[in-house]
Parts: sequence; C-alpha cells; structure tokens
Amino acid sequence: NEALLEVDNLKTFFYIDDKVARAVDGVSFSVHRGETVALVGESGSGKSITSMSIMQLIPSPPGKIEEGSVKLEGKELLKLSERQMTKVRGNEIGMIFQEPMTSLNPVFTIGEQLAEPLVKHKGMKKKDAKAEAVKLLKRVGFPRAEETVKEHPHQLSGGMRQRVMIAMALACDPKLLIADEPTTALDVTIQAQILDLMQEIKEKYNSAILMITHDLGVVAETADRVLVMYGGQVVENAPSKVLFTEPKHPYTEGLLDSMPDVGDEKERLESIKGTVPPAHNFPEGCRFAPRCKYAMKECTEAVPELREIAPNHQVRCILYEDRGGEK
Ligand code: SF4
Ligand code: MG
Repeated sequence: NEALLEVDNLKTFFYIDDKVARAVDGVSFSVHRGETVALVGESGSGKSITSMSIMQLIPSPPGKIEEGSVKLEGKELLKLSERQMTKVRGNEIGMIFQEPMTSLNPVFTIGEQLAEPLVKHKGMKKKDAKAEAVKLLKRVGFPRAEETVKEHPHQLSGGMRQRVMIAMALACDPKLLIADEPTTALDVTIQAQILDLMQEIKEKYNSAILMITHDLGVVAETADRVLVMYGGQVVENAPSKVLFTEPKHPYTEGLLDSMPDVGDEKERLESIKGTVPPAHNFPEGCRFAPRCKYAMKECTEAVPELREIAPNHQVRCILYEDRGGEK
C-alpha cells in the first residue's frame, strides 16, 4: 500500500544576515489515501513551513530546501521545474488557507474566480467552466449557486468565503488537500461545518488531507493521525486516539493540558511556560528542554532520536530511549 505523500528527511532553512534558521529540520512522515493527518504545534514550530515546502512555495532567497524528498504517488516533487510544479499545484494538490479574503480577488465574481483555473489547468471552454463553477459551489453547500457565482467576495460571510476556497481547491479533483489553519478565522459552528465538509469530500473522492493547525480541538475532530512538531522537528507521531489518551512526549502532554476543559475532572488550563525557541538559535540537545518539566542534564547533550515505542507511535525524548520504553 504505497503512500500518497511521502516526506523524507525534509530540511528547509532560511538564511538571514549571517544566521541560519533551521525552520524544518529533518521531517519525515507519510499520508495515505483516505487519511487525515494533522501537523500540530505552536506558532513557530515549523508546521506551515513544512506544508509550504511540500508545495514548493518557500520564498527563495532567503529560504532553501536543503535536503530530503517529497514524493506524491512515488513522483519526486523536489526535482520538478517550477512549470511542472505549477501543474501539480493546480491538478494534484489543492490548498486551503486561513484567510480566504486574501486569496480571493475582490474585483472578480466568485464564478469568474472558480472558472479561471478550470480554463487554465483543465483546458475547459469558458462556458463549460462557468457551468462547472455552479456545480462546484453546490458541492460545497451553496443552495443558490446560480446566484452565488455572480457575487463578489465581500458579499459573502467568512464561512461562505472559506467554502468558496474549498470549491476552488476541489476544482481540479486533487488527490491531496493541504489545509493550513482552514477554520481559525471562523466561529465554532461554522468551523465544525467546514471540517465536516472537508471530511465528506475526502471520503467521497478517496483523497487525503494534510491539516496544519495549532488547535487540538480541530485535530480531535478530524485527524486519523497526528504529528506534533517542535523546533522544526517531529517530536511525536501517533494515531489520534492514542495521542489524546496516552500522550508520551512532554510537549504533547503540555499541549493537551492547555486544551480547554472537555468535561473531565482535572482542570485543563495549565499552559506550557516559556516560548518556542527561534529557529536560528535552538538550545543544545533537546529543543524542548528549557520548557520541559522532566528535563535533566542528559537532555541537553544531544538531540534525542525519534523512536518507535509501539507500532505506529514514535516519540523523540530520552525518557523513551532504550530504557525498556517506560517513563
Ligand atoms: Fe524533556 Fe528531556 Fe524529553 Fe526533552 S528529552 S522532552 S527535555 S525529558
Ligand atoms: Mg502557520
């Protein structure tokens, strides 16, 4: 069962003045068809840079993909020309971002904006593309799609604009949807609707979703598997259920403790003290050590390896290194 997306030892650095920011520093994971994989972590943990590297949307300079491999159904994306990559972005990977207002053009109607990629990437005739735009809007839940195509972005609510973005991402039947904080700007009810819609689409088309979010509530609701990122590295990789019930990495534990109370007796408002270290100045050894309540001297000696502690469960922490796997 070949992975749809296979990321291996990805490194993306930024060169600013005489400093090197190791924003993504050896990230590996895979996404299979039908799966929703979430990349989580605080802002600055490297999750968005990871997704932008996959899409090759890293501004260069100052950014550079230094090393690694990104394969989509076995095809190495990092070796493609910009022209070939544009095709992949239009046809094989769909993107959904946080703020639809900045991705939609205020001057053109929703219909014109939906039709454009169909003409450009799929070679459709304008008239057919317009009809297809109506169909796409219906697919994402616009009952009066014939009217919506004539409207401009400012005439729609935030949730509706995000639906339009999803329709745009779907226009070319992508195998993979990459969604970076897709619901962060929306209120809770609309957020749930958008997440449901994305899941529905994934199932119907047997595609996959790579969800980038800082919000563990979103993860709990949608992800099959979770990768927790910190300091440009994956620190824990586990099936969603396992991660929420048996978190192993101290950072994951901290993230879960800072989640709003979901009806359990323990007060869950404790947040992790301190801040994410800047990528040009990581501490020696474990990058989480300055904030970790279990930190000991050995933690600062070498970066811990990401180890498999159970099937499909990996952790990067010396508490789980060759000590029988028990904390
Ligand atoms: Fe904490 Fe040490 Fe594990 Fe890092 S390696 S997470 S400092 S216990
Ligand atoms: Mg981000």
